[in-house]
Amino acid sequence: MEQITTAIPAKKSIALVAHDGKKSALTLWCQKHQDVLSQHNLYGTGTTGHLIEKTTGLAVEKLLSGPMGGDQQLGAKIAEHEVNLLIFFWDPLASQPHDPDVKALLRLAAVWNIPVACNEATADMLIASELMSQQIHRTIPDYHNYLADRLD
Ligand code: PGA
Repeated sequence: MEQITTAIPAKKSIALVAHDGKKSALTLWCQKHQDVLSQHNLYGTGTTGHLIEKTTGLAVEKLLSGPMGGDQQLGAKIAEHEVNLLIFFWDPLASQPHDPDVKALLRLAAVWNIPVACNEATADMLIASELMSQQIHRTIPDYHNYLADRLD
């Protein structure tokens, strides 16, 4: 598939998600990085978003709870270029009823080539990057071309 280059702006739209076993780790991480996070737009699945707002005072646009459709809502926002960075503290030691949605969310993050952190060490590296405050470029599928080819 052909690719095009598009910009991720300096002010990013960051999705924050944590499975139950990782929620305290993510809320602590958000407290630690509150200054950087406050410079961006924040989205979260329902429970995670509420907890982050409560513990940090940061404004989070809260979607449905993950198992009730929140992961899929986030995936749609990634596909529509509304969300362009994902911090997802998923729990590798617990099975999840919404595992297919989790997989779908990570798949769309890969399709649309957004930066993703799936654990705290990677999230630390992302948030410390000087690129957090700069416009960056990513290549993405050329959807218009893709559609035109299919309609030919
Ligand atoms: P929650 O969803 O923030 O509503 O718990 C997260 C998830 O499990 O995907």
